[in-house]
Amino acid sequence: MATFNNTDLAAFKDVWVFCEQRQGKLMPTDFELISEGRKLADELGVKLCGLLLGDNVEGLAKELGGYGADEVIVCESPLLNVYTTDAYAKVICDVIEEMKPEAFLIGATNIGRDLGPRCAARLHTGLCADCTHLDVDMDIYKDFLRESSTLAPEKIDGMKTAKVLGEDHDVSRDLKMTRPAFGGHLMATIICPRFRPTMATVRPGVMKKAPFDQAKADACKIVKPVVKLTEDDIDTEVVEVVKAAKKLVDLIGADFIVSVGRGISKDVEGGIKLAEELAAELGGVVGGSRATIDSGWLSADHQVGQTGKTVHPKVYVALGISGAIQHKAGMQDSECIIAVNKNETAPIFEIADYGICGDLFKVTPMLTEAIRAAKA
Ligand code: FAD
Repeated sequence: MATFNNTDLAAFKDVWVFCEQRQGKLMPTDFELISEGRKLADELGVKLCGLLLGDNVEGLAKELGGYGADEVIVCESPLLNVYTTDAYAKVICDVIEEMKPEAFLIGATNIGRDLGPRCAARLHTGLCADCTHLDVDMDIYKDFLRESSTLAPEKIDGMKTAKVLGEDHDVSRDLKMTRPAFGGHLMATIICPRFRPTMATVRPGVMKKAPFDQAKADACKIVKPVVKLTEDDIDTEVVEVVKAAKKLVDLIGADFIVSVGRGISKDVEGGIKLAEELAAELGGVVGGSRATIDSGWLSADHQVGQTGKTVHPKVYVALGISGAIQHKAGMQDSECIIAVNKNETAPIFEIADYGICGDLFKVTPMLTEAIRAAKA
């Protein structure tokens, strides 16, 4: 087989999204990434392709078309029935070497976090992990230079190229991948100028899902490359898949979230109960700041924020949460934010649509009662 030359940037085209399925069911992240990938592909003027691996999964492909994929590349084999890093990485790297996409997006799920770095290392390309924003537009890059470089503003305005290892490089087609850095204190925008494909893992829940379009689903093309995979390629054997019996809270899919923070510390059980009552009245779920997870008051699946879940519900109620930058990173795109805090200078009030300065133990029952009365 010819050696894979991934420095010939012009030979690479199209945006790909890894579409994860488990037991024949597509993951919500697939639809988010396909929707986001659509925008990037349109800006670059190329095709958007989903990459779907599994056994007998072709039937899932058209649905991806409904969210924006022009084409779905379906790789099927009985050896892909259950996820193994070896098998998936081999098949993905084979199709990438053959079909040469310029950008490859993967959801930062447990599987995506395992698969992404393995493929990037094997393909000898760059991967930006845990992205919260993607763009091909030059403006974001220019904004970054305006803030962080000493270049003259006129020079930045007119620029199309950047110095990469001493050489002028056209950055206009580079994927600009943004993620929190230095403990969330700043957002870093990263490019991969010398190698292709540019790879990014993207946090679940960050990108917005486009509406489903049946006509687009019908028009979506399915491509089935030959899968060269044998048992010898796989060093691990999955003996059994044991699902956690515990029901985890679905923060990402929730329209209403009532989150508690360290402000409940004087009566933890009582504070959580008040949040549960308000959430039940709204038809939502309970979330928490990291302080409540670290203290063992709520389990980790409740955590909202940079190292927890990114959410954008219709209504986010923050009870006794100060609004640290790492918490805001996970909830600031909520449609409506209601904050209850007894400290009027708490940073959460800077992003709240409705701020109530008061004791959450007094205010929360009043909110619950008001909603109950409004519904009656
Ligand atoms: P505090 O900051 O202690 O705030 C408690 C608030 O409750 C105060 O504003 C206080 O005025 C108010 N209060 C007290 N009593 C009452 C009352 N009776 N009624 C009303 N208000 C009251 N944090 C996250 O949440 N999510 C993350 O994903 C996350 N990731 C992180 C990643 C890194 C790398 C780092 C360094 C930190 C991270 N953090 C995260 C932690 C973050 O910096 C804060 O420490 C945390 O969010 C604080 O939680 P809190 O707002 O509940 O507590």
